[in-house]
Amino acid sequence: MITKLVRIDELHMDEAAICEAGRVLAGGGLVAFPTETVYGLGANGLDSEASSRIYEAKGRPSDNPLILHITSMEELYPLAAEIPKTALALAETFWPGPLTMIFKKTELVPHETTGGLDTVAVRMPSHPVARAIIRAAGVPIAAPSANASGRPSPTKALHVLEDLDGRVDMVVDGGTVGIGLESTIIDVSGKKPVILRPGYITEEMLASLIGTVELDPAVTGRPGADVRPRAPGMKYRHYAPKAEVTVFLGSPTEVCAAIEEALRKASSAGKRAGVLCTEESERFYEAPVKKCAGSRNEPESVARSLYDVLRAFDREQVDCIFSESFEESPLGGAIMNRLLKAAGYRVVRCGETSPPG
Ligand code: AMP
Ligand code: MG
Repeated sequence: MITKLVRIDELHMDEAAICEAGRVLAGGGLVAFPTETVYGLGANGLDSEASSRIYEAKGRPSDNPLILHITSMEELYPLAAEIPKTALALAETFWPGPLTMIFKKTELVPHETTGGLDTVAVRMPSHPVARAIIRAAGVPIAAPSANASGRPSPTKALHVLEDLDGRVDMVVDGGTVGIGLESTIIDVSGKKPVILRPGYITEEMLASLIGTVELDPAVTGRPGADVRPRAPGMKYRHYAPKAEVTVFLGSPTEVCAAIEEALRKASSAGKRAGVLCTEESERFYEAPVKKCAGSRNEPESVARSLYDVLRAFDREQVDCIFSESFEESPLGGAIMNRLLKAAGYRVVRCGETSPPG
């Protein structure tokens, strides 16, 4: 398959290109497009064959359900069997935007789209290009992140092409995305709302609107026999560059010292090491490869560039990556959730144990 690349500028939208993307989707094809969170790989979410193509192109496990993307509340009613008042309040405040809600599904939604579950995930994105393409397709669009399964999510069209060139019909390049982390997922299908995946819409923002919100234990804990994620996708290794990642937990000063020590050990072991750092700390490290993920004073910048930086390490062919941690920022929960998965939960608690060699 030859993948067609088109550029669509959100400020000067090319109507012909939008219509073409809509036609490909309506015809059962695959189109990758920008959203405000990450690039999505879209297909007609009500067409089981089209949904199945997404799993094939990404190499995605078939039990990992897809999120349906819509552009108006009218499109939600045929998909969700029950819409609790809490969900209406959340939609009123956070849609369009980076929030996904889980509902009991109707018959209309095929099990191929929901990974066999009787619930369906729905989001209304705000990115103008995403919205125009979904409207042009005229159907709810199933769109997981447009990366090969397990790799860091794409925040630029180039990342999509790295993973999916020749595997999808069309890639729409709408520039670098604004948020850089996938949507917050909240399950509103049960008695109490539960956050299944942290994101740009934080627990505090949700709680201030609807009161107490539970956090699925898998959000912070390492998935295993006792911690089973309710979002099936959260149990898989994810977001991972090729080199082994270790995350250093502790105060910025402790972390910096521990990473310097780890760098010395890696160097004497003949390993090429990379450091994932920040504007504030970059100058302290003497490392073969340094990648700056933004500023600690602006956590949004870290969220925006995290996946780009993880992918950049692959091009530098490092053997190991030592990463700083970002627990203290308001977006820290979401950033750390992705980083710990990228590291396969390999951490060093600075001050408690000695860094790895
Ligand atoms: P992605 O679109 O690649 O960011 O992944 C979608 C995420 O949403 C995965 O972690 C899925 O497991 C989760 N998800 C989608 N549908 C459901 C659902 N019905 N119930 C629980 N989690 C879901
Ligand atoms: Mg994904």
